[in-house]
Amino acid sequence: MQQCAPTRTPDVDHDALREKYRAERDKRLRPEGGEQYLVTEGEFAEFYEADPYTPVVPRLPIREDVEVVVLGGGFSGLLAAGRIKQAGVDDVRIVELGGDFGGAWYWNRYPGIQIDTDATAYLPLLEETGYLPTQKYSLGDEVYEHCQRIGKHFGLYDDAIFHTLVRSLTWDASISRWRVATNRDDDIRARFVVMAQGPFHRPKLPGIPGITDFQGHTFHTARWDYEYTGGGIRGGLSRLADKRVAIIGTGSSGVQTIPHLAAAAAHLTVFQRTPSYINERGNVEITSEWAATLEPGWQEERRRNFHTAAFEAFAPGQPDLICDGWTEISRNLQAHLDATNGWAALTDPVKFMALREEIDHRYTERLRERIASIVTDPATAETLKPYYNYMCKRPCFNDEYLPAFNRANVTLVDVSSSRGVERITATGVVANGVEHEVDCIIFASGFEATTDLDRKMGVKPFVGRDGLSLYDHWADGYRTLHGMTSHGFPNQFFVGFIQGGVTASVTAVFEQQAEHIAYVIAEAVERGATTVEPSEEAQDEWVTTLRASAFDNTAFARACTPGYFNGEGEPRLRSQFGEPYGPGFYAMGDLLKAWRDDGRLEGLILG
Ligand code: NAP
Repeated sequence: MQQCAPTRTPDVDHDALREKYRAERDKRLRPEGGEQYLVTEGEFAEFYEADPYTPVVPRLPIREDVEVVVLGGGFSGLLAAGRIKQAGVDDVRIVELGGDFGGAWYWNRYPGIQIDTDATAYLPLLEETGYLPTQKYSLGDEVYEHCQRIGKHFGLYDDAIFHTLVRSLTWDASISRWRVATNRDDDIRARFVVMAQGPFHRPKLPGIPGITDFQGHTFHTARWDYEYTGGGIRGGLSRLADKRVAIIGTGSSGVQTIPHLAAAAAHLTVFQRTPSYINERGNVEITSEWAATLEPGWQEERRRNFHTAAFEAFAPGQPDLICDGWTEISRNLQAHLDATNGWAALTDPVKFMALREEIDHRYTERLRERIASIVTDPATAETLKPYYNYMCKRPCFNDEYLPAFNRANVTLVDVSSSRGVERITATGVVANGVEHEVDCIIFASGFEATTDLDRKMGVKPFVGRDGLSLYDHWADGYRTLHGMTSHGFPNQFFVGFIQGGVTASVTAVFEQQAEHIAYVIAEAVERGATTVEPSEEAQDEWVTTLRASAFDNTAFARACTPGYFNGEGEPRLRSQFGEPYGPGFYAMGDLLKAWRDDGRLEGLILG
């Protein structure tokens, strides 16, 4: 797509930077970790359950037997349901809270929403569906449409039920089925259930004192209120022209939407606890000339290349096919090893990690210098500078974000010293002892990604065989076979970051698991089994294999500033990637394939 070269990065005092990182982390650590957030249920349920985009159509409760229920109609659910159908099990019902397929891409329609990773690696099944994205970084509506495309591709619409929230899941041994209870009073009796909620399905709110006192307007970025703001995902929020707006949160969602709020609001106040790294966007059109160069298997090749850059290291002469801020550290490392004839470092993990940290420091220093070159007020520029290792938090890519702080109608308020916004009143937001009066507060405060499992999954109760609660079963850590099935939970499958392979294109993880789950379900049906679950021994063995092979990331994660990546500073069980399989994503794929090819369903008990 474009020429790719290493970047020039400045020298840094590594020890001083490490010390600064420590101090900035300590300033933000909160003893209550994930508990600092409010769950969007009870009086806050509207922030999760209300759909501002599609009217809810009343319907009668459903009482039926279904072969497979897939909980969630985002990429993970679509891929699982699609592959199960392709494997020959046709009775597959997706149950989805949104009014259409899309998951995160249905709900997140805030102005500026865009993919941050290369669309040709991120969007699944491009070759299978014959679709090529229009830009290297698609806007949100193109991603949402691709979800709908996949739904049609697999014929999943007819049996899907939308605007339906699964409240509880209970294994009913008398009928060997899961009882799926929903907010629409449904009682669906499913032979198999696939959990495909995705990592970001439930918004969370900051537990700021006085949050319910506010008398103005308020909403979360994942439920954008265009009635109130006007405009759409490309901006034009004309109804904000006379409004004073506050936004709380400067992660990926905040960063993408702030330029549009800044352009439209009478005044915008940005409350920042931790700044994000902001790299160049560098979006380009995907041209027909480039498309003509693609050979079959091209998407897999790009994904593997991206994986190498993000999780391993480029070999000498290996091209960087993705070529962006995600791959810049690997690209720079490759150039450094070339220039110093230092390739031997790759064989020594300690030397390799030390070198990678130095390259990381230089790279982040480049990003800090970039802030100072764009933001004209030196104090504001300083406040916008992040101080933590690059991958401690999700990096951001945006060309309009930093310039927004040069506008006269934008104020940046640093709330790090109070570990978050101090208080919300009837009329505004209090920070550092000062009340900022506003008409509207927008929460860009993220999702239940690594908070406690019952908060994150939201399905209560979630009860398997003999009354066993999944949350109790996993209280001291995940216990699965291959990250997808768990003893005591017959006919239950999990998609997502639990105990499996991790790669840079998250949808590739879902694809790998979808193929495997489809195989197991189809085989169980084919072999006339009523139930399938892993034996306790097989599960224990997988947990042992995982832990023995794990790359221990805890020291890195603990050194990071708090956020959902490291369980708000408590990374033990709460990494956003779960417990990754040490040998890597592609080794995991090989292992699963060998297991399937073997045909014995080793470790599974068929009943
Ligand atoms: P997030 O990364 O979790 O950010 C939440 C923000 O709220 C943080 O800046 C956080 O500050 C702030 N916050 C929380 N409590 C606060 C308090 N009491 N006072 C002040 N600030 C507070 O959420 P997100 O931005 O919605 O992104 C979540 C994830 O969704 C991303 O990391 C990404 O994986 C995905 N996403 C992707 C895209 C994309 O691909 N383009 C776009 C949006 C989201 P701290 O950092 O100090 O905790």
